[in-house]
Amino acid sequence: MTDMRSIGILGGGQLGRMLSVAASRLGLRCHIYEPGAAPAGDVAHAVTTAPYEDEAALRRFAESVDVVTYEFENVPTSALDLIESIVPIRPNRRALAVSQDRQTEKTFLRDLGLRVAPFAAVDTESNLPAAIAEIGMPAILKTRRMGYDGKGQVRITDASATEWTGAPSVLERFVDFSAEISVIVARGADGQVAAYDPGLNVHQGGILRTTTVPCGLPARVTTDAVLLAGRIATALNYIGVMGVELFVTPDGLIVNEIAPRVHNSGHWTQAGCAVDQFEQHIRAVAGLPLGDGSRYADVVMENLIGDDLDRVPTLLATPGVQVHLYGKGEARPGRKMGHINRIAR
Ligand code: AMP
Repeated sequence: MTDMRSIGILGGGQLGRMLSVAASRLGLRCHIYEPGAAPAGDVAHAVTTAPYEDEAALRRFAESVDVVTYEFENVPTSALDLIESIVPIRPNRRALAVSQDRQTEKTFLRDLGLRVAPFAAVDTESNLPAAIAEIGMPAILKTRRMGYDGKGQVRITDASATEWTGAPSVLERFVDFSAEISVIVARGADGQVAAYDPGLNVHQGGILRTTTVPCGLPARVTTDAVLLAGRIATALNYIGVMGVELFVTPDGLIVNEIAPRVHNSGHWTQAGCAVDQFEQHIRAVAGLPLGDGSRYADVVMENLIGDDLDRVPTLLATPGVQVHLYGKGEARPGRKMGHINRIAR
């Protein structure tokens, strides 16, 4: 057994909330650190509401826990430095550094021998024409940092009518993919690697809409996906759960991005596996053995976004549907309010 009792989580959104629930099932306590409103706070042992610049609050937080993990990757470096001087951070800083910056991420993946979309750094707007000439079109301009759910992205189809993202960016060649899949992979403190079955992802307006398992692709594709996700986790000496997003093309898999945390496209594991991605992550960061992530059901996960919340009464009455609500106050358009797992039988 682990001698850990308490886990600190940076970020208090729905991922932190579901991590806290999983930790409590294993007899562990979570302490959430979140500058804003914290849906995770409702189900955690303790909550600190303070900015990431508040050194005294960060110190108290770090001193109150045995390990710190995170539910989003854009925590400022200064806050991480301070926390790491007191308590270990899992997954490690390298995994964070690699995934915080698209340029670093793509370079890391390419150097590992994996395929990524052709890309070029675009530090200022004046570099854009040269990057377009190098990469070709259609292309997507993405901010290097702080992008999520398609935010901070501009499509470029006409070199004479470009838009600028307003921040240092990466220009990526548009990939003509037949499907988007993701692998949720876990690596334990002992180096053991386990991956969930790859899920088929459908996005709408840059936001994940559904994940379906099984993904319906041939075994050679899904095996490839799982193997490359394991390679990434091992190369980073990773501890915890990671999401690896992939494009399926006729020439093979292209890595879109990695998320060093539990991932929206892994929510189906709550209904499809004995040990879901949240418990798996908690096990890994707490130094416990990884659990059984084999899939025993076919599941479609659907996000409840904005006023999808109006469907909840019907969904609650639907057989085979597991409803998860995040306890967020206001249902704004584009805001993830919950999700459902529909179990096929
Ligand atoms: P990202 O924020 O990088 O995950 O991008 C959000 C979504 O935009 C992806 O899930 C894809 O649907 C689409 N997308 C991003 N990059 C590309 C690309 N290079 N080629 C085609 N579609 C892309």
